[in-house]
Amino acid sequence: MTTSYRTLGFIFKKEDKFEADRNFSVFTKDFGRVEVLGKSIRKIASKLRGGIEIFSFSEIEFVQGKVRKTLTDSVAEKRFNNIYKPEKLKISYNISEMLDDFLKGEEKDEKIMSLIEDVFTKLEDYKKENCSIVYYYFLWNFISLLGYEPELSNCPICQQKLNPYNLYFSNKEGGVICRSCYSLKKESLKIKSDIVKILRLILKKDFDILSRLKISSDIGNSLSAVSEGYKNYLSPKNI
Ligand SMILES: [Zn+2]
Repeated sequence: MTTSYRTLGFIFKKEDKFEADRNFSVFTKDFGRVEVLGKSIRKIASKLRGGIEIFSFSEIEFVQGKVRKTLTDSVAEKRFNNIYKPEKLKISYNISEMLDDFLKGEEKDEKIMSLIEDVFTKLEDYKKENCSIVYYYFLWNFISLLGYEPELSNCPICQQKLNPYNLYFSNKEGGVICRSCYSLKKESLKIKSDIVKILRLILKKDFDILSRLKISSDIGNSLSAVSEGYKNYLSPKNI
């Protein structure tokens, strides 16, 4: 007899297999990341078809075979219908890529689960054209939940309080370092105090203020550089 499992999950990746199958990567409430195969799901008549879509929450049921998990039922629980615009989709795929890179094992994590729901709800409701702040909100809070919360108050090397005019982000030290430590190490990115302020707001999850910030292209580029730099430094695929 095969045992079947039922759980709620967020579908963050899909990949077509064989003639009509599709593999789904799902971050689930009870088992962490799982890969489930939807057999013949791409056929019009498939009953599984409507219940599971990328970037949505579904209740899924699967059986564990010798080599893979096979989807046996799926019920859509929460969809985000307002994310199918180029800018929002781009962010959805960026988030998906991070989940794919960083979440490898079957390890459940309720905080990550609620962050995903929180972020997609924000993306769904976001009104401004440029919504990259939603992505950075995810990126830094996700990295922090994985244990890499950046140090933003004191230099992690010498413990001195940081001077807002001389700030450098160090991936290796996991935070903002001071000028004297920078002059010894050099492997950091000079940043403005505005970046530190934005990162603090992100980690405080003060999205109300974040969504009203006017971010200049200069600060936007710097935020992108420091965020992508830290993410890539930590990414398991680059180790
Ligand atoms: Zn220092």
